[in-house]
Amino acid sequence: MMHRTTQGQPIGLAALEAQLAQDLDFLEMPSKSWVPAQMHDGAPVRDVIVIGAGMCGLAATAKFILTGISNVVAYDAAPEGKEGPWVTFARMQTLRSPKGLTGPSLSRPPSHRRR
Ligand SMILES: Cc1cc2nc3c(=O)[nH]c(=O)nc-3n(C[C@H](O)[C@H](O)[C@H](O)COP(=O)(O)OP(=O)(O)OC[C@H]3O[C@@H](n4cnc5c(N)ncnc54)[C@H](O)[C@@H]3O)c2cc1C
Repeated sequence: MMHRTTQGQPIGLAALEAQLAQDLDFLEMPSKSWVPAQMHDGAPVRDVIVIGAGMCGLAATAKFILTGISNVVAYDAAPEGKEGPWVTFARMQTLRSPKGLTGPSLSRPPSHRRR
């Protein structure tokens, strides 16, 4: 349920999500899909299939989508929500890496970097 002020404006998380959606729209992110659709024996064909939806697989998938290659899917051997090491064998409550470490940030600066 979206929380709103008495004037109907979204507040809290809903307001942040609305702002983010507008910012991404202004930046034209993700780009419009530009790869022509392909068919094989009458069935649609994916442009890219990513095997493994852990950290690198999700970063690669997001990069494809951001650049307008949207007919992409990531498959993982683990059940949904159990991809990567975090909720299975790693079982880390907190990330050890510092916030300033960019990693696979897709050319976006960390949003909460300390100054
Ligand atoms: C205990 C621990 C603590 C860590 N702490 C940090 C930290 O603080 N900061 C940090 O930056 N990094 C940390 N790391 C490292 C980080 O988790 C890894 O660098 C990162 O997850 C590697 O990404 P990846 O995509 O290569 O592999 P993963 O994230 O492991 O993803 C691989 C995926 O591929 C799937 N897969 C494997 N084989 C197949 C197959 N044949 N078919 C389909 N799917 C398949 C797996 O199910 C998995 O979901 C930690 C790692 C561990 C184990």
